[in-house]
Formats: sequence, C-alpha cells, structure tokens
Amino acid sequence: MLAHQDLTLTKILIANRGEIACRIIRTAHQLGLSCVAVYSEADRDALHVKMADEAIAIGPAPARESYLRVDRILAAAKQTGAQAIHPGYGFLSENSELVAACQQAGLIFIGPPQAAIEAMGSKSAAKSIMEAAGVPLVPGYHGDQQEPEFLAAEAATIGYPVLLKAVAGGGGKGMRIVHQASEFVSALAAAQREARNAFGEDKMLVEKYLLQPRHVEVQVFCDQQGQGVYLFERDCSVQRRHQKIIEEAPAPHLSAELRQAMGEAALKAAQAIGYVGAGTVEFLLDARGEFFFMEMNTRLQVEHPITEMITGQDLVEWQLRIAIGQPLPLKQAELKIQGHAFEARIYAEDPEQDFLPATGCLSYLRQPAESRFVRVDTGVLEGDQISIYYDPMLAKLIVWGPDRQTALQRLIQALGEYRIAGLTTNIDFLQRLASSAPFHAGEVHTHFIEQHQALLF
Ligand code: ADP
Repeated sequence: MLAHQDLTLTKILIANRGEIACRIIRTAHQLGLSCVAVYSEADRDALHVKMADEAIAIGPAPARESYLRVDRILAAAKQTGAQAIHPGYGFLSENSELVAACQQAGLIFIGPPQAAIEAMGSKSAAKSIMEAAGVPLVPGYHGDQQEPEFLAAEAATIGYPVLLKAVAGGGGKGMRIVHQASEFVSALAAAQREARNAFGEDKMLVEKYLLQPRHVEVQVFCDQQGQGVYLFERDCSVQRRHQKIIEEAPAPHLSAELRQAMGEAALKAAQAIGYVGAGTVEFLLDARGEFFFMEMNTRLQVEHPITEMITGQDLVEWQLRIAIGQPLPLKQAELKIQGHAFEARIYAEDPEQDFLPATGCLSYLRQPAESRFVRVDTGVLEGDQISIYYDPMLAKLIVWGPDRQTALQRLIQALGEYRIAGLTTNIDFLQRLASSAPFHAGEVHTHFIEQHQALLF
C-alpha cells in the first residue's frame, strides 16, 4: 500500500493491455498494491490478465468497443473497488473525458489534470501557450485563420519547405511536407482530408520544415505541490514514417550546457500549464544546436525505461506517489545521469514488405536473458495470437552500459539472442541498424533510415 496524509492506496486498475499493463503491474506489486486488469475478448489469456490480481472483461476485440470505453472501465473500477486508474500510453491516456469521469466517480486518475491534457491536446493551442511562456518554437503559423490563400501566404513568409500539421494530429498522421508554392493548395487539401478521416477535425498549422533535425525529448515530472524536475533527455531521432525505432538516453553529442538549457525549457513548458505527473516535452534540435518545442505528451512514454536505466529511478513508482499527493522523490540536484541506455522496439512486421504488420501465432519465443544490464518489457507469451486489433509491438529490449559503446555492444548481443518462430519480426533489421557505422558514430537524425537505406535493407 501507499499512503499520504489520510489517503491509503491499496488497489489500482490498469486501463491498458500488453507490455505497458504488465510493466505497471510489476511496480504496483512491488509497492504492495493490488491490481485490476481489464481485457477484451481477444485478450482473455493475455499476460497482463495473468499477472493481475483480478481481471474484468470489458468487451469485444476492437479497441473502440473495449479499451476505449470510458463507461466500461469506470464500471470495472467500481465493481472491484479500485481507487485509482492508470491509463498507460495510447488508448485513453490522453483523453480528458476519462479524467473527468474519474473525478466524478471519486477515483484518482494517475496522470495530469484535465486542463493540462486539454491544453496540449491541440498542437496549435500548445504552441500559443509555449510562445507566451517563452519556450522556443519552430517558426510557423498556428493561428485560427484557415483560408488556403492565407495559409499559402504564411508558407511563403516562413520559406519553403514547410510542414503542414493537423492541430489534432498524433502518431505521425495528418502531416505533409510541401516543397514549393505550386504544390501548396493541393497538399493542404490532402492533409485536411487525412486529418478529417483520422481525427474528425481538419484544422492545420504550418511550420518551417527543418532539414535533418534530431528529435530530442525531455522527461519531466511535477508534483501537486508545484515542484518540478527534469530527468534528462532521450534521443528518438531514428524513425520511420515518424514512428520511433531505437531510442537512447542520454542524447549523443549533446553538451552539458545544451542539456541543461533543454531541461529547463521543458520544465518551463510543463509549469506553464500547471502540469502534474510524468510528461514529455518533445523538441527538434538542428545542426547548429538550436532547439524548438514540438509538442508535449501528457503521459508515460513507450520509451520511458531508458530514462529509468540512466537515472536508477522507477517512473511508474514516481507516478503513483505523485498521484496520491506525495512530493517528488528527488530534487534536481540529486538526479544524475549514469551511463547510457538503448531501447529497441521489437515488432511483428516485415521490413522487406514495407514493414507490413505480421499477424498469426507466436509459436516459439525465447527472449534475451535479463540481467542488471538487459531488461525486456513484454506483454506476450509463447502461443499468443498476434491480431490485427492492436499495435504489433511484441516487446521492448532495453540495455544499459557504462558508456554508449558498451551499451550498443550489449544491444547487438541481446538482439542476437532472440529466437522467434511463427511471425516475421524486425529483429534482423534492428541488428543491421545497431551494427551500422553511422549509428555507432551517433550521427542520428530523423532521416537516418532513408539516408542509409543501402546499409539497412
Ligand atoms: P505526432 O504528434 O504525429 O507524432 P510530431 O509533431 O510529434 O507529430 O512530429 C513527429 C515527427 O515529425 C518528429 O519526430 C519529426 O521527425 C518530424 N517533424 C515534426 N515537425 C517537424 C518540422 N517542423 N521539421 C522537420 N521535421 C518535423
């Protein structure tokens, strides 16, 4: 149990599935908390259900009918007497309706206040808030005017190439690069169409499209007393279609001054919206060392374990403590970076076929041996069916070393220990990536995969 003043937390519900549900249960159990899992029909025998102390069925396989049903999740919490809900990432983690429903039902939402989620839910509103707080932004237009002629004129002022982004966007969707003025109007129409389909809203913002930037994000934490710290950065530059593939912490070739400046800017961003809990402030970093706010994710990120490896902290434990009102476990001066960590996302997909998700039975699974240096966060078991319904990520392989080269060697070694049958995976692709000379040199940027096609495929 966890206690603060007159509050004693004994039972939580995890409104998620897969590796993140399992990972949350692990820490909750270490803290002596009882865990309630929820599951769809497809997940009846899933690992997160087996690990939990109780499990409640919440509907059919499609997420819209189960993991995205606020009403069913609230009913499951009520039925089991859970006092708090951890949303994990994805699904309802950034859904302000769930936060409001928790509040109404007298449940603790393990995450930020509703207003903070809403402030960051729109990319344009987020940019306005950050601008007012003095956080550097990518040059661009993020106002309300949406006439094509007006936006085209803004694009000309910003200077091509520009990037069109859906203000309601996420997961790399609703973005279009426009290289020249003559393409602008048709690109805008296409991006709006995609945004309407994906998010039900087609409002766009226009940004300078940076050439070969790095994606560097800062982990922040704030408590209910108004204190905040940053737990340094993660470099998530190696991406495909804006999806992260291998992340590392700390970011290679980042000076101590720049690290501090980015950390402080991230904290300023979080405090500008009265943030509480775990959050990530994403920046683009250009070759000259200038950085620009991109967005804030108001949840625990997939790649949080690399931050845990270099700081020696358990971020889920921090989330739970802060959610019940305890102060931050450490002060900024007490946080230090130790060594280097990588995370590789192991996916059931076929790199030879444009990374088409693979479905079927995971008939054989041997994962790398875990140790102080090697951690495997997974939500699957041998014999599981990998379905079309959910993200095909099988596991996250996380390694630590006292320095980048040692950590990288351990990553390559551990990837080599995987034995999987029944499904095609991206493991060989990850091996080639991790073993490549430019990756060894830490020369990462968001076009790394495209630029090094010849080495990787
Ligand atoms: P999403 O919310 O859909 O993930 P983001 O705004 O976080 O979208 O951007 C995703 C990725 O797109 C970034 O990691 C980066 O690779 C690329 N990107 C975003 N904005 C820019 C920009 N202005 N210039 C160049 N690349 C960008």
